[in-house]
Amino acid sequence: MVDSMQKIVSFSKRRGFVFASSEIYGGFGSCYDFGPLGVELKNNIKKAWWDEMTKKHDDIVGLDASILMSPKVWKASGHLTAGFADELVECKKCHHRFRKDFIKEKCPDCGGSLTKPKKFNLMMKTFVGPVEDEASVTYLRPETCQGIYTNFKNVMQTMRMKIPFGVAQIGKAFRNEINPKDFIYRTREFEQMEMQWFCEPKNAPKSFNYWKKERLNWYLNLGIKKANLRAKEVPKNELPHYAKRAVDIEYKFPFGWKEIEGIHNRGDWDLSNHSKHSKEDLKYEDYFPHVIETSVGVDRSLFAFLCDAYTEIKGGRTKTTQSAKQVEVMLKLDKSLAPIKAAVLPLVKNKPEIVKKAKQIYNLLKPNFVCQYDESGSIGRRYRRQDEIGTLFCITIDFDSFKKDDVTVRNRDTMKQKRVKIKDLTECLRKQL
Ligand code: ATP
Repeated sequence: MVDSMQKIVSFSKRRGFVFASSEIYGGFGSCYDFGPLGVELKNNIKKAWWDEMTKKHDDIVGLDASILMSPKVWKASGHLTAGFADELVECKKCHHRFRKDFIKEKCPDCGGSLTKPKKFNLMMKTFVGPVEDEASVTYLRPETCQGIYTNFKNVMQTMRMKIPFGVAQIGKAFRNEINPKDFIYRTREFEQMEMQWFCEPKNAPKSFNYWKKERLNWYLNLGIKKANLRAKEVPKNELPHYAKRAVDIEYKFPFGWKEIEGIHNRGDWDLSNHSKHSKEDLKYEDYFPHVIETSVGVDRSLFAFLCDAYTEIKGGRTKTTQSAKQVEVMLKLDKSLAPIKAAVLPLVKNKPEIVKKAKQIYNLLKPNFVCQYDESGSIGRRYRRQDEIGTLFCITIDFDSFKKDDVTVRNRDTMKQKRVKIKDLTECLRKQL
């Protein structure tokens, strides 16, 4: 289990998905950078979510609120009070600190005894303006949704929305986690994709069930294996301070079943509290709409998509070549998520006319698809390299390409190759994506 986690971590680095932040300085407390392939994958996940919300569903509009907000927001939302705090314990011997609900009675590092739990607020404090005094204190948002509640009226009025409707947003959030761990699973800076569905109170339970199903299907439609996904009802005594009901969508990571998304019935907690604190009337007609929230971490879901797609094939898939390969790696990402859609490969690199034609084809495809050009190593090795990062199609230019003005297109999953006329290539790929 630990072994498969190690494999994913080193694969992510080796193939340019995820690097430790500030690596040349020894890294920096649980922060990560997304490399050239990581950023493509991340953008594809965000696009898949955004399209799902705003194109597949009616009555959902987008928003991009600022990260810094008035500190009054966090007072009204309950985040400044004990509502957004974890319990922290410290080992009396080695002084390591832990989240109380993550450990048993003794220190997991040295076996020492622990201090009494203390409440620890997870919000990251910062100062706005040049004077670092209390008057200028604010916080980096710990969740993106508050920007949606504070803009409830703006969105409703400008877009002439009628209840029920939803607002979708993607953006960074920050939590000063006591024990960030498990690679990009729990970090202090992360990105959320949140949708707030405003509805009549009597329809909230039905909407909750609807969104729970929709969200589970989103993962399955993007290729997550059914056996690795489940929905877990959060017991009443563990509900977050704002929630009437919560379901966690969990993924089976190498380190166990863990939450990747929360579906929450927030009732009228947010709109009524913001009304009270801001003195703005945030009612719709004569009532506060109830809110069903779906909240996914981009980084956590990316991690789940990576784990699910990462496949090792002992002895490799091809039986024809005798190349020295014990284990072949394949990243079976859904076509919409794969970072590279096509790789252009000249069969050999010592024939200038083949290289020239291959570069022409690369330039032809590049404006339409995320592509790579690769001429180094045997063609078999280059196919393996592309399979490893989940590239959907390998386009090979060979000697016949000159006679017939065509190329071979190799499919990642079937390894089948077919010849396609160069003039039809863009359309042929487009149809399959
Ligand atoms: P946990 O119990 O794991 O701390 P949570 O229940 O507090 O998470 P929510 O507040 O429901 O999480 O946040 C919604 C989603 O945001 C989570 O399902 C997760 O995908 C993401 N998320 C929350 N905290 C983090 C974090 N520290 N690092 C990465 N993603 C996070």
